[in-house]
Amino acid sequence: MPIPTENVGSLPRPAKLQAAIAAYDAGEITHDQLIAEQDQACSDSIHRMEGTGSPMVTDGEQRASSFATYPLTDTLAGTGLADNLAGDGQYFAIFDDGHHRQLPRLTGGPFRYKTYAADYLEKAIPLASVPMKQAVIAPSMLMLLYPLDEEVPGYSREEFLSDLVDECEKDIRKCFEAGAVRVSIDFTEGRLANKNDPNNPWTGRGMLQQFIDLNNRVLDRFSPEERRNIGIHTCPGGDMDSVHSKEVDYAELLPSMFQMNAGYFLIQLASEDDKEHVYQLIGEHSRDDANGVPQVCFVGVIDPLNPEVETPERVRDALLTAAKYIPTERLGATDDCGFSPFSIDEKPKHGSPDFARDIAFQKISARVEGVRLASEELGV
Ligand SMILES: [Zn+2]
Repeated sequence: MPIPTENVGSLPRPAKLQAAIAAYDAGEITHDQLIAEQDQACSDSIHRMEGTGSPMVTDGEQRASSFATYPLTDTLAGTGLADNLAGDGQYFAIFDDGHHRQLPRLTGGPFRYKTYAADYLEKAIPLASVPMKQAVIAPSMLMLLYPLDEEVPGYSREEFLSDLVDECEKDIRKCFEAGAVRVSIDFTEGRLANKNDPNNPWTGRGMLQQFIDLNNRVLDRFSPEERRNIGIHTCPGGDMDSVHSKEVDYAELLPSMFQMNAGYFLIQLASEDDKEHVYQLIGEHSRDDANGVPQVCFVGVIDPLNPEVETPERVRDALLTAAKYIPTERLGATDDCGFSPFSIDEKPKHGSPDFARDIAFQKISARVEGVRLASEELGV
């Protein structure tokens, strides 16, 4: 079987859609008008991703406010925020270029999603002619909705976590029921958990093991057969062409990350300075048997933050080097991150979100072709 390959999930929203979201926040257009723009962007995303030859596609998350907040709010500005939430929560991340992204704050219980990823997928699947995957958010990200130190009146942290685990399980199950062939869980907070950024208190609380344990509470509800198709994505962030935790050595994350009983991992790597160090860590710490499933390691071969398009030969060579450290039957290829995890993203290094979309499809094409070349070379 050739080396498997898939994208993480998101694509930049067209400038026209980003303008429509702002107009919707300002009360200038109706919800139906916003949906019409999203419909168009999803359809365009699916068809152009199919045009890259990718064996599996997504809708580019064109309906989601972000990879982390889609269950909670219709827009990043907070229009349509779910019950029991306020807008002024913790910083999820402070990025290297100085901008930040903030989560809502839980004000009471019970905690429930207002939107499931499958709500988007159900609209997307009829438009696609190849299988679809879906990305969902990790419970470890949403646990940051609960205030770091205070107790929410009448709703204990343990009650919240129990509701959260139920909702995350439901989010994944609904994706499979809607027809997803794979579901990947976005876990960008994993690497950030070792950053110790004094401006972002949760990153100095040593929360990584709590994150891993919480995510396993969800994963352990699935059978080995189901977990073969449930993945985990790790990265140092990817928003406005900037990152939040690239200085954290993967040696501080990967041994813990592979404790999660997922069947595959989508690992940022193309933008790492010392790739062989990371391939080696992956080879050492990924498991043949994670409670009944082998852990397939999809290494990042495309950098979505850099407008320069990788060549298929560069992709091939990266995979051939990775294959020296990672068993070929557990090797895959992916992009370092979604191309725009947040709905409002100017893609400053690209000059515009529309140009960044064009580049994204060229990059996905290069990955698909590079994977074909590497598979041929490796005889798989
Ligand atoms: Zn990412």
